Amino acid sequence: LPLPAPRRIKALAQDVVNKIAAGEIIVAPVHALKELIENAVDAGATQLDVVAKEGGLKLLQITDNGHGIDKEDLPILCERFTTSKLKAFEDLSSIATYGFRGEALASISHIAHLTVTTRTKESSCAWRAHYADGKLTSPKPGQSAEPKPIAGRPGTQITVEDLFYNVPSRRKAFRSASEEYAKILEMVGRYAVHCFGVAFSCKKHGDSSSGLSVPASAGMLDRIRQIHGSAVANELVSFKTGNDRWGFKCEAWISSANYSAKRTTLLLFINHRAVESAAIKKSIEQTYATFLPKGGHPFVYLSLEIEPHRVDVNVHPTKREVHFLNEDEIVEIICEEIRNSLGKVDTSRSFMTQS
Ligand code: ADP
Ligand code: MG
Repeated sequence: LPLPAPRRIKALAQDVVNKIAAGEIIVAPVHALKELIENAVDAGATQLDVVAKEGGLKLLQITDNGHGIDKEDLPILCERFTTSKLKAFEDLSSIATYGFRGEALASISHIAHLTVTTRTKESSCAWRAHYADGKLTSPKPGQSAEPKPIAGRPGTQITVEDLFYNVPSRRKAFRSASEEYAKILEMVGRYAVHCFGVAFSCKKHGDSSSGLSVPASAGMLDRIRQIHGSAVANELVSFKTGNDRWGFKCEAWISSANYSAKRTTLLLFINHRAVESAAIKKSIEQTYATFLPKGGHPFVYLSLEIEPHRVDVNVHPTKREVHFLNEDEIVEIICEEIRNSLGKVDTSRSFMTQS
């Protein structure tokens, strides 16, 4: 058979490249939301309100009372790799804030209609700007793309509309809006447990009551009770541990052996970012297996602070997967502490029933 002639290699058009990159970072509305929550927390917000319509696909709006964005920065806000959080590559190892790549807003602007309304405390008014493909855009044909002054409170409101409007294949992949909303509620709930001193609310557009609401003053137990119910909140034990050699500290709130659920709830934070770790989850489940009835699963909130130079946060733009040095050793120390805590509660119970 004759070999086919080689096809000529051509560069993809820039807007195609941008859309592909954005689609890798934001696969579902909840991924946009996570970035927006982290931005608001980075901005020092103590109040964060989320509104979603059609599972966030039609509308995703997050309003914060943080430090706002300088009007002068609005023209470059949504360009790729623009950030107020990272100046040199070396800074990557000492990054203390959540975000660092300046890719979130840029990505969102490539696959949704993005509107930013923001006011710093120095500014006498708020400014509203619309974005498309990383740049300021006019809200309607014939209008100016320049940010417009409007009345508004200090802080920032980000409105994401018609997510994936220009990525029909992605848009079609969504089975149900309520499934996407459940993920949104779950993510807001995660940060609402973790972010002490910050109030959170989340609701569907048009609903009068919130799907979730936590006041700024709520303590850890109250936060878990509000979001995960009394059954788990009444059976929590907490511990702190750490180790200088492996450069980590850990704070945990975990269910006792008296609580058992169908599935494991693991709220895992590493350096204040919500992350997933199949390895950590597996170790925790194995640890609990000897304490819980067959098929029973725990509730575990774990906040790990690991020396930044030991954490490889640069794995993938989604940053959902985080790797760190001495993972096995650190996980073993935590599981040992879990065993201790569960054992303690057990003996106090049996002691009580004996007496
Ligand atoms: P990154 O968070 O990685 O810096 P983003 O694209 O998420 O990148 O945001 C770009 C910049 O926009 C941030 O560095 C920050 O200066 C500003 N910003 C974004 N969201 C907010 C917000 N809610 N409040 C104040 N500033 C914000
Ligand atoms: Mg960010």
